[in-house]
Amino acid sequence: MVQNTVQKEHLYFASMDVTKLAEKYGTPLFIYDVEKIRSNARAFVDAFQKENVKYQVAYASKAFSSIAMLQVAKQEGLSLDVVSQGELYTALQADFPTDRIHLHGNNKNIEEIEMAVEHDVGCIVLDNFHEIELLEYVLKKQGKEMNVLLRVTPGIEAHTHDYILTGQEDSKFGFDLANGQADKALAQLLNHDQIHVVGLHCHIGSQIFETDGFIMAVQKLFDVIDHWNTEYNYSPSVLNLGGGFGIRYTDDDEPKPLAAYVEALVAEVKKQTNARKLNMPEIWIEPGRAIVGDTAITVYKVGSIKEIPGVRTYVAVDGGMTDNIRPALYNAKYEAVVANRFNEPKSKTVSIAGKCCESGDMLIWDLQVPESIQSGDLLAVYSTGAYSYSMASHYNRFPKAAVVFVENGKDQLVIQRENFADLVKNDLRYDSL
Ligand SMILES: *Cc1c(COP(=O)(O)O)cnc(C)c1O
Repeated sequence: MVQNTVQKEHLYFASMDVTKLAEKYGTPLFIYDVEKIRSNARAFVDAFQKENVKYQVAYASKAFSSIAMLQVAKQEGLSLDVVSQGELYTALQADFPTDRIHLHGNNKNIEEIEMAVEHDVGCIVLDNFHEIELLEYVLKKQGKEMNVLLRVTPGIEAHTHDYILTGQEDSKFGFDLANGQADKALAQLLNHDQIHVVGLHCHIGSQIFETDGFIMAVQKLFDVIDHWNTEYNYSPSVLNLGGGFGIRYTDDDEPKPLAAYVEALVAEVKKQTNARKLNMPEIWIEPGRAIVGDTAITVYKVGSIKEIPGVRTYVAVDGGMTDNIRPALYNAKYEAVVANRFNEPKSKTVSIAGKCCESGDMLIWDLQVPESIQSGDLLAVYSTGAYSYSMASHYNRFPKAAVVFVENGKDQLVIQRENFADLVKNDLRYDSL
């Protein structure tokens, strides 16, 4: 094979020269590999199809919501989780089929519920008694019916490598199983003429690598289902097991193939239904991070480099906590490369600083980079597809970055870089009163 020298020196992402895209669109720049988004989505969908069960894979759009992203989700036949009017509005703008939209949130207000009912979303995931009242009011007013899931807290909190069992979960989300709140909610809604409880929902955490936490949650849910079956002759047609499937940010992360989570969940649901002689429900999941997290990079330009002899070298880039707050917010780890020196040996240790006025605005501590790194170089941070752009802020009045989609060797801008006028568009003058 003839080696392309340019290819050797530059980082290629989704078969595109990253330095060329940075030149074309400027920095900071999010570049999404659309083929990878599709293959992640298909990994979940294909795994369910192999299992021969009824299912929905709902993309948790809070991970990254934009019209273009939701168009891709629609093309892949996914369903969609939204947690606000803004996310629902984005879905409507993307012509997402509303019967495949699920409304979430721990504090849905009347406007959100009205909008969801008006657009006939597929279901509302009820979180608390207050919402039941609001939904009843809205349905009466609009003369409509609605399918709902009851979100329950099973008393399992899963983290990357472990999970915590809490008899009664201290959580702002959902009806508690242990103290009977969930029973009360079901009893209240059984035989309701406008609200139809089609099933149960639980979500045990995020960036989870092991399947045991999910399996325990299924077991807890089936204890309840068994009880509801006996007590109320109620049997759910949907079991929504949430999202939280982990991805690789750094080499320390060892996620399972996405299909493995589906296989484990389906196997446990089948086992429980057989053992307890219950009906097999539809299984829904809600991956966010696992659909988009590893499908994007963020490209920054290096500015100042501050060497503190014997201490540390700070390499500052033209973005930071405004486009990716995860390192500052919860010490999230990332890997990065110098995109225009991709093949040079990495012999120098530096720390990547953002440009916000916060000492905590650090993107990466102790990254290995080429000795020759200098101002004007391009730094590409991997796995920034989830909870980066969607958590972006205007701190220090930095305009939000641009987002480009790449597929089949072509690139297309899907979110414009903000300009200064965007920053002040809601500002009003104050003339002394
Ligand atoms: C955040 C969230 C998800 C998605 O979580 P990921 O870790 O991105 O997969 C799914 N369901 C609910 C209810 C959530 O709050």
